[in-house]
Amino acid sequence: MISIKHAETELVLAFIGLGSNLENPEAQIQSAHRAIADLDGVEELAFSGLYQSVPMGPKDQPDYINAVMAVKTSLPPQVFLRCLQSIEHQQGRVRDGQRWGARTLDLDLLIYGDQQIQTPDLTVPHPGIAERAFVLYPLHELTSQIQVPGMGKITDLLEKCPASGLKRLN
Ligand code: ATP
Ligand code: MG
Ligand code: MG
Repeated sequence: MISIKHAETELVLAFIGLGSNLENPEAQIQSAHRAIADLDGVEELAFSGLYQSVPMGPKDQPDYINAVMAVKTSLPPQVFLRCLQSIEHQQGRVRDGQRWGARTLDLDLLIYGDQQIQTPDLTVPHPGIAERAFVLYPLHELTSQIQVPGMGKITDLLEKCPASGLKRLN
């Protein structure tokens, strides 16, 4: 007898970090929020408040607006990354080679389930999570219980990361 079983698509809990400091950053974040929610294979769970942060790299650039989004996804991580890069591109992201230079939109895949991935174009969890207040505070707002794979409890990471230079916007 042949039994036909529907393949169950496994949904993975993932978190995306959003950042912008050019061309109306708040509108850029809102537009990216919609674009991510509209991706096939992605279901929005929650979106943090908006945070204003001082730039991490070169100081001669405007402050950033940051947020974190929680989703469930059936997209494999590499595919998800390509979708995020295509949204960056659609919103005018130009890569001029300067590390951490000003940009209309940065979308980083912060966490993808319990997976730890290290390939030339994708590291997950994102290696900057632990030292970046503009990631940890909005992430903690969405999920205060999470263990960041390989890094530890979000509450412990947060305790070690001062919120200086970070302001939550209403
Ligand atoms: P940072 O990654 O330190 O926040 P950035 O976001 O400014 O810096 P980008 O220019 O956006 O860096 O991306 C540089 C490269 O990082 C991309 O080409 C991408 O392949 C790679 N990358 C590795 N891991 C990730 C990840 N988890 N999320 C997004 N990009 C990643
Ligand atoms: Mg980044
Ligand atoms: Mg990036």
